[in-house]
Amino acid sequence: MRSPTKSPLSLTGLDRRALQAELEAHASGELTTYAPALRSCVDVLVVGGGSAALCAAIAARQCGASVHVIEAAPSILRGENARHARNFRIAHQQPTTFVPGKYGEEAFIGDILHVTRGTADRELTEILVRESAETTDWLVENGIHLERRDHRCQNVSNRTAFLLGGGKAMMNALYAAAIRLGATVWHGSPVIELDLSQTEYCVSFVSRGGVVRHVASKTIAICAGGNPANIEWLREELGDAANGLVIRGTPYALGDLLVRLLACGMRSIGEPSHCHMVPFDARGPKFDGGVVTRVTAIPHGIVVDRNGLRIADEGEDIGKMHFSKWGVRISRCPDQIAYLILDLDGYMKTAPSVFRPIQADDVGDLPTSCNSILQFSTVPSIASTQPSSHRPTRSQWSEPPSDCCHRSRVARTH
Ligand SMILES: Cc1cc2nc3c(=O)[nH]c(=O)nc-3n(C[C@H](O)[C@H](O)[C@H](O)COP(=O)(O)OP(=O)(O)OC[C@H]3O[C@@H](n4cnc5c(N)ncnc54)[C@H](O)[C@@H]3O)c2cc1C
Repeated sequence: MRSPTKSPLSLTGLDRRALQAELEAHASGELTTYAPALRSCVDVLVVGGGSAALCAAIAARQCGASVHVIEAAPSILRGENARHARNFRIAHQQPTTFVPGKYGEEAFIGDILHVTRGTADRELTEILVRESAETTDWLVENGIHLERRDHRCQNVSNRTAFLLGGGKAMMNALYAAAIRLGATVWHGSPVIELDLSQTEYCVSFVSRGGVVRHVASKTIAICAGGNPANIEWLREELGDAANGLVIRGTPYALGDLLVRLLACGMRSIGEPSHCHMVPFDARGPKFDGGVVTRVTAIPHGIVVDRNGLRIADEGEDIGKMHFSKWGVRISRCPDQIAYLILDLDGYMKTAPSVFRPIQADDVGDLPTSCNSILQFSTVPSIASTQPSSHRPTRSQWSEPPSDCCHRSRVARTH
């Protein structure tokens, strides 16, 4: 974990320059026309413009407070990581308009503790789960459209409600609600200073045209996300493996304000070295690829690293949780690269992908089209390169794949 005593300025200075260059490229029109001149003092300052920020802004306006939202990303990217979201979990005891079946609070808490290997903060987890039951009503009241369970065309889940139009539609609706209620929104305006030491909080940010502005408030909600896009910081926790990761979310989640909060003595909760890593197609963009390049077919094939060695039992877990297990495994492979090899049968079972797999009529021909796999020429030789004592078992789909190769890579989310 980054030490709270470290100066945040060196990191922030570096990242801010790159960020500023990008912001200038988007500068025209970034300050939305509905934003009036910045007042020197407001009731509630909301830093960040993702889903947490917009919920805070709407709630504060509904209580009658004057609200400013200050967001680093340009308006075309508004919504940040929530732009990529599709669904969210809610606890419920019986079917509702949006979710079938039942998903009790204990089951929800159990799932969180399972994926975090017991390190999740119990109190926060319980609040999250308890309050989740109200989420759909609140979203609908504020103009967000959810998929009715009887209209659902996606895979049915007892645990989650689906956003109609996805996360982008949700964020557009949240922004529309906040603005309709009278919140002022500053896009493309990274906060560069936080002064939390006085009775009033003071925030400095760079608005359109490079103008630095200051605004004070009695209440502040800092919803500026975590550090998943900060490769330098990730390297501190993951070593060189951080270099090979693909970040499927926003490049603006640098964690610079998190560093400042920690430096101000804010308490850290949770396990900072844990994160959600899932396999992604290595041909996708370095940032913001979203969910469309996710590799979903691992249980239908075999996975080898750059040296042609199998990594683990591909059929061990075919549930939704297998993604995060494989993300961690591939992050430990050389260059964070692994190859999923599918035969035609396995390929036919996979969901369509943005990138077409690299194909060959025979697995022996794969090295000619995928020149990184040079260590083997036939599938049996994949196994023979590996000492039998280290050969993972294979609980399902034990037929050797024959004719289709798909290269995959790991991504890190939050
Ligand atoms: C690809 C992907 C898919 C996902 N799918 C789902 C899903 O289906 N369901 C689900 O529940 N969750 C999903 N998540 C997780 C979910 O998107 C996040 O948990 C959620 O968006 C976090 O919201 P947030 O507002 O806390 O943070 P963020 O969305 O990270 O927002 C933080 C905001 O702070 C801004 N900011 C940062 N620094 C500054 C600064 N110095 N000054 C001003 N602003 C700053 C950023 O620009 C950003 O707008 C997904 C995440 C990703 C990446």
